[in-house]
Amino acid sequence: MLIGIPKEILSEEKRVAATPEMVQKYIKMGFDVTVESSAGEGIWRSDEEYENSGASINSDTEKLFAQSDVILKVKQPVFNETVGKHEVEMMRNDSTLVTFLHPAAPGNHDMIKELRDKNITSFTMDGIPRISRAQRMDALSSMSTVTGYKSVLIAANQMAKFVPMIGTAIGTVKPARFLIVGAGVVGLQAIATAKRLGGIVKAMDIRKEACEEAESLGAKVAEFDIPQELVIGEGGYAKALEDEWLEIEQKVLEPYVEDADIVILSALVPGEVAPILITEEMISKMKQGSVIMDVSIDQGGNCAVTEPGQFAQKNGIYICGIQNIPGRMAVHSSWLYANNMYYYIENLFKKGLNTFDLDDDIVKQSLVTYKGKILFQGAIKAMEDL
Ligand code: NAD
Repeated sequence: MLIGIPKEILSEEKRVAATPEMVQKYIKMGFDVTVESSAGEGIWRSDEEYENSGASINSDTEKLFAQSDVILKVKQPVFNETVGKHEVEMMRNDSTLVTFLHPAAPGNHDMIKELRDKNITSFTMDGIPRISRAQRMDALSSMSTVTGYKSVLIAANQMAKFVPMIGTAIGTVKPARFLIVGAGVVGLQAIATAKRLGGIVKAMDIRKEACEEAESLGAKVAEFDIPQELVIGEGGYAKALEDEWLEIEQKVLEPYVEDADIVILSALVPGEVAPILITEEMISKMKQGSVIMDVSIDQGGNCAVTEPGQFAQKNGIYICGIQNIPGRMAVHSSWLYANNMYYYIENLFKKGLNTFDLDDDIVKQSLVTYKGKILFQGAIKAMEDL
């Protein structure tokens, strides 16, 4: 069984799905491993290090995809401009893919159908449930921790103001004002980072528990009185709100958005399209030079006008839809991700290298395409809704 590790090709993506240390572990499990030449370049790991760990180095991208039984990636397959082919097209029929697929995102639907049609068994790392047994595989949490931290730094860097209160001979500079919407893993790390930088931080979530955690990190929480039975779904996760409640939430958010220098948007119900919480009209009332980081963009975004992959300026407001924020902090992101991936693969093949344990809950919930069918509920629902 050959595992293939391609070089990631999304713009600015420097992560890699396996470090040399993980290659050694896969080989110990009984796999052969082939790594695309310079796949580790973005984290300063050389081909030689991978070779010393037991991998073969492959400089022919098409060959790597065509030969591999199992492709391990970081981001969803995309069109490879250099080769002139989509990564799914290069994969062998009946092979296996494990990566972040974001299967509910409308922009990925054609690619998911392509995987189905090629009879590829695909698993998405964003489908892994957040249960204690899966903690070591939880790449979403790992990447969200990085994203919460880095998104605050990106926004602060974009803003033409100080974040902390600064005393000068001319007078005192007021601290920057943050609004963090969605106080999950990204949001809580964003709150902690914004506080460390000296900002004034407000936060909003629909779950009371998340609000309490935001408060414990020093954020002031926006009052949104919504019955908890409407927001708590299976496993304690948030449930998608009905349109009428989303409209009320937008109204609640309006003054907070107007007041903010930096808005970090990370509201999401797992497996669903992200709710639109910031409208164009709300943006028109923001201060010029303010920054919106729409980190839920892989699921469509929380802001109505975010352009995926772009850092756009609209009427003096910066709106960031960068899709691979962890890719900009590649060393620690890859270290976390490669470990999460290893523990996932170890669990997936625990009955032997030629068989998946499809009865396992972690495997079931992350399975996207199998035997010519799409099985991931979030993707099925999102495709029906379009
Ligand atoms: P999470 O599930 O831990 O948190 C999401 C939070 O949103 C939850 O606390 C939930 O209660 C809240 N929420 C749901 N609906 C809401 C609503 N209507 N209003 C307010 N809050 C609401 O998820 P996470 O790990 O923090 O990830 C958040 C988002 O960040 C996801 O969309 C994820 O894909 C994205 N993300 C993006 C990048 C990137 O590079 N752009 C990287 C990592 C994560």
